Amino acid sequence: VVPQGGNTGLSGGAVPDASGRELVLALDRMTTIRDIDPVGLTVTAEAGAILQTVRDAAATHGRDLPISLAPQGSVTIGGLVATNAGGLDVLRHGMTRDLTLGLEVVLPDGTVVDGLRALRKDNAGYDWKQLFIGSEGTLGVVTAAVLRLVPRPRHETTALLGVASVEDSLRLFARAQDAIGDALSGFELVGRSAMELVARHSGLEPPIRASAWYLLVQARSALPGLREAALALLENAFNDGIAIDGVVAESSDQATRLWALRERVTESEAAEGPSVKHDVSLPLRAFPAFLAEAEEALASASPGARSVVFGHLGDGNIHYNVLLGRGDEPRHAEILNRTIHDLVVRHGGSISAEHGLGQYRVAEWRRLASAAEVALCARIKSCLDPEFRLNPGKVLPQPERD
Ligand SMILES: Cc1cc2nc3c(=O)[nH]c(=O)nc-3n(C[C@H](O)[C@H](O)[C@H](O)COP(=O)(O)OP(=O)(O)OC[C@H]3O[C@@H](n4cnc5c(N)ncnc54)[C@H](O)[C@@H]3O)c2cc1C
Repeated sequence: VVPQGGNTGLSGGAVPDASGRELVLALDRMTTIRDIDPVGLTVTAEAGAILQTVRDAAATHGRDLPISLAPQGSVTIGGLVATNAGGLDVLRHGMTRDLTLGLEVVLPDGTVVDGLRALRKDNAGYDWKQLFIGSEGTLGVVTAAVLRLVPRPRHETTALLGVASVEDSLRLFARAQDAIGDALSGFELVGRSAMELVARHSGLEPPIRASAWYLLVQARSALPGLREAALALLENAFNDGIAIDGVVAESSDQATRLWALRERVTESEAAEGPSVKHDVSLPLRAFPAFLAEAEEALASASPGARSVVFGHLGDGNIHYNVLLGRGDEPRHAEILNRTIHDLVVRHGGSISAEHGLGQYRVAEWRRLASAAEVALCARIKSCLDPEFRLNPGKVLPQPERD
């Protein structure tokens, strides 16, 4: 049984195999928003409810569910929980796990477990819901969730900056933390090649001088003064030679246009051709060395290949994707995959930051994770789903069928 929400996942987790022995369990008719508590700041929604719909419903109470993903008109609450999705608000509000207070789950043996408690403090028994968050439909079917809401920020500002190096990007991040403090809600990185693809396929150009790296900095707060703080940050960064160019949005329309430069990267990359994707996280200080070594490795493994680098730098998560060169064969993709993942592990990172293992990264995780970690996960799976009824072959390799 393969649970499926909006089918926007990027690791093939909701896609059945071609054996003819798998059923897709679509949750798309369970769409009720059962409760919104604007004072207790919670929403209780069924698994098939669409993220955008839930956010719109919360907005009518002056509240927000702070999860922003490009495909939020298709993504479901069940899919968010099952993938522990990240997105553009992680810096401030954490991943879906940090927003999940309660779950209703159906176990592989049919038992319905109701843990839909809207409580911030609940230490009664093991916190079992954590097992299902990010388990990619392999341990149970999520049928409803209680998620935390936040007051809708009344003030928001967005800046786009150009910088010459990743080192300067990190310097700017430290300065933004000091200048903007808790209101800093997004710190996104887009490399020059990714920005060129957006220009070619989406017709959008950054309104600043061409740079090696672009940074989108966002601040949101109930209190005013954000634009002034962003302008001061920019001015100091120019004066100290950290930023090459930059602009602070003057209206929400302009902010939307700046964000489109970031949000259109994935579709522009797809329009350019097939790519080998890596969704990696690293300690922030490891990024300069990792990126330099990855470019070197890429040049020697496949001279015609081009990297497309972008992502949530403030969260330590980037997408290091590679467009293969003409004449590259499928084995090049495998070699590149291994090379990049080896580097990630050497620098203390993870090969799956926010997209999950699904079916595409199972073998690589098996290759790179410790035997003890894989064995522990296999014990959890066999405890809840000994017959591999739910999403077989995802996250953990499937035992041989007879
Ligand atoms: C353009 C684009 C941008 C994206 N950006 C981001 C991003 O910034 N951050 C991010 O984290 N992700 C991102 N994603 C990935 C994707 O949107 C998320 O993983 C999302 O959470 C998937 O939700 P879904 O409803 O589409 O789930 P699906 O794709 O249908 O399923 C995903 C996994 O969850 C399981 N599942 C689904 N519903 C249930 C359920 N009710 N119970 C149990 N298991 C279930 C499936 O079996 C599968 O393993 C992006 C995707 C696209 C196409």
